[in-house]
This record gives sequence, structure tokens and C-alpha cells, in this order.
Amino acid sequence: MATAVGMTRIVAADEPGVAAAVAALAQGELIGLPTETVYGLAADATNDDALRRVFEVKGRPTGHPLIVHIADASWLDALALDVSPACRALVEHAWPGPLTVVVRARDTVSRVATGGRDTVAVRMPAHGAALAIIARLGRPVAAPSANRFGGVSPTTARHVADDLGEDIALVVDGGACDIGVESTIVDCTLEQPEILRPGAVTQDDVRRIVAPSGTSIGEGVTGESRAPGMLARHYAPAAKLVLHETAASLPSDANPVLDCASDLVEAARTLYARLREHDAAGHAVVHVLMPPARGLGHALRDRLRKAASSAD
Ligand code: AMP
Ligand code: MG
Repeated sequence: MATAVGMTRIVAADEPGVAAAVAALAQGELIGLPTETVYGLAADATNDDALRRVFEVKGRPTGHPLIVHIADASWLDALALDVSPACRALVEHAWPGPLTVVVRARDTVSRVATGGRDTVAVRMPAHGAALAIIARLGRPVAAPSANRFGGVSPTTARHVADDLGEDIALVVDGGACDIGVESTIVDCTLEQPEILRPGAVTQDDVRRIVAPSGTSIGEGVTGESRAPGMLARHYAPAAKLVLHETAASLPSDANPVLDCASDLVEAARTLYARLREHDAAGHAVVHVLMPPARGLGHALRDRLRKAASSAD
């Protein structure tokens, strides 16, 4: 069953839907791909023309590399050189799941996908439909979030259809995303892995896996050259977000309030849908109660700060 939104076909994540998605990717077309983090704008990662279209459709600068998605952990070695023991330990624990590793790229990896770099970001998503599509295509799939550059990421098939309309062949409806914020990115090209973007695989998880003896890991986002595409303003709704560390600092007439402090898992799962709802309702200002800086709270704080930023 397919429904049309404008010109975008939304297909179910069933056998015919998966077959249609694979056929579109094989022909160099772009699709909306469900994952457990956010929906991706997916292209065959071995097709440079299709990859160039991803940048064009998103309006994303070509120097901002794409995450390459694989269907089996064993595919990592077809993309990467010199995978470190720490990187192996990370993917063994966290894949399939919301963890992206940055590794040295083999010569065969498209430099369109890597933004011209000799490193590539790789992830195996924990979503049945995504894995089925990538496995059946038999090639890795590059997929940034399926929204226009700088905007709010999509967490439902409808969000993708609303954002990208006729620029994609179809979107596979894999339901609302379980996690709701983008993957944790860990740079594994260094002796000590370093977190470039916080996500649902937390600092504590990474530390426990790669540095059980308590040695340090790099934390937080570094300079632009190390973490291309990490801009101050990103994930941004039309509404102005005003961030509050405590409920006590909320003005008494604050309305609406987006509570991200009570239940972190729920706050992450629903964050982008709630931002979209506030925009749809025409709210010019939204007050946000910030989550604590621990666990998944780090990822939420990162996204909320960038969504609230007025810097370019
Ligand atoms: P997304 O915006 O979710 O598509 O994630 C892509 C982000 O992953 C980029 O903006 C980079 O910050 C990071 N990334 C992807 N590939 C690389 C790479 N080769 N080296 C360093 N960071 C990368
Ligand atoms: Mg994005």
C-alpha cells in the first residue's frame, strides 16, 4: 500500500516496500530511509551522481561528509583501513545501534561521500527495514538526515514527505524513530577514541567499552577540521528557543514550555516532532527546560543548544 503526499510515495516497510526502495536505490534514486535515530535521505554510497544529488537536495555544503550505513558489521573492513582494537570493541558492543565510527577510508570509498577526506563515517543501524534494504541492495548506503540543511531532523515518514516532497523517489514508513536523536559519532582514527557528537551511546558507554581501566577518552566537539559540519546552529526550528537550566528560572507566564528534563528517553524520542508541532502552531518563542548533563542528557543539550543558536 502506498499513499501519495504531494508527489512523494510513502510505502509500507513490508516486502513490496523494501523491494521498491531497493529498486530505486539501484537506479541511483534517493529514498527516505527509516532508522532508529532519525530518518535518512539515502543513496547508493557507490554511486557518485546519486551522492551529489543528496548534497543538492539537502542544500548541504559538499565538504560535510555523509555517514555510510551498512547491513552487517563485517562490511566495515570493506570500507576501512587499520580498524583499531578500540573501534572493534565499540562496534561489537553497539552495533546494530546508534553509534557511528570514523575510520581511515580505503581508496575504493567514494570521496563524494567523505567530503573529500581520507576518513569515512560508518554505522550499522538497528532498524529491520533499513537493514533489509541495505542487505538486499548489497552495497553501503549513505544517509544524512532527510531534511533540508540546518533544519529539524525527521522522525516520521510524514516529516520526510513534508520536507523533501518530490525530490525523492519514495519514503519507507518504518514508524516513529525509537531513539529520535542522531547517532553518537566517535573518531576512531586517533590512539584514544574521541566523541565528536554525543548521542544515545553515551560517554559512559564509550568509556566503559574502550577505557575500562579509567584512562581518559576525548569528549565533546572539537574544531571544524576534526568534526566537519558541526555548526553552531543546526536542528533549528522557526521558533526561538529560550533555554532554562532549572524550572525556577522559567518566567511565570512561560508558554509553551518544552520539558526535556523529566524523562530523557521520552524527551529524545519526541524532541523533533515537538519542535515541528510548535512551528506548525505558529509559536514564535518556546521555553525549554533543559535536561541534566548526564547520559542521554548530553545529546539533548547539544541538539537544543544548536537549535537555539543564532550563530550561522
Ligand atoms: P549527519 O549530519 O547526521 O549526516 O552526520 C554527519 C556528520 O558526521 C558530519 O557532519 C561530520 O561531523 C561527521 N562525519 C561524517 N564523516 C566524517 C569523517 N569522514 N570525518 C569526520 N567526521 C565525519
Ligand atoms: Mg542532519
